[in-house]
Amino acid sequence: MRIVLIGIQGSGKSTQGDLLSKKFSIPFFSSGDIFRTLAKEETDLGKYIKEVMNSGLLIPDDKTIAIITEYLSRPEYKNGYILDGFPRTIIQAEQFKNGVDFTIYLKVSDEEALHRISLRKSARQDETTSAIRKRIELFHTHTEPLLDFYRKDNKLIEIDGEQDIEAIHKQILASLGVA
Ligand code: AMP
Repeated sequence: MRIVLIGIQGSGKSTQGDLLSKKFSIPFFSSGDIFRTLAKEETDLGKYIKEVMNSGLLIPDDKTIAIITEYLSRPEYKNGYILDGFPRTIIQAEQFKNGVDFTIYLKVSDEEALHRISLRKSARQDETTSAIRKRIELFHTHTEPLLDFYRKDNKLIEIDGEQDIEAIHKQILASLGVA
């Protein structure tokens, strides 16, 4: 099963992704985690990624697609994956069209997401208020069009992400036809 989670930062993608990963015994994969690891490297690419991430901007599509698809071609992902953060633009979605069975959109208002993030204790360098706001803004401009893209392909499951964790998990499973 190849699942993509879509939602703004603070919408619960990693929480729900972990639950789905355990339920189906397939790995959870976060593009943000991969980029955060690469950003620690003292290479030109590492420094560049760090700078882009800390400003909340997106890594260019060509670089993102090359890096992420290389990871996903590894043996541990051959039975599927739960993706968080990729694809994030129409270009990425088009190029990754054959890598997706279902997308799950966790719908949460900007206000609720910002409230949740404000309650977290984060030591992450890319979690400044301005980077978070930029990421939410880019979600609306670049990632929201993906909803229509997957809807047209009958691959979109929309979930009210403002319910409690267990209710959301159950609704996702029911939408996937799993008890
Ligand atoms: P995230 O943890 O998913 O919010 O990702 C953190 C940062 O990593 C983003 O703000 C981007 O700079 C970068 N990033 C992660 N996934 C992607 C992607 N699919 N396309 C472009 N940039 C990405």
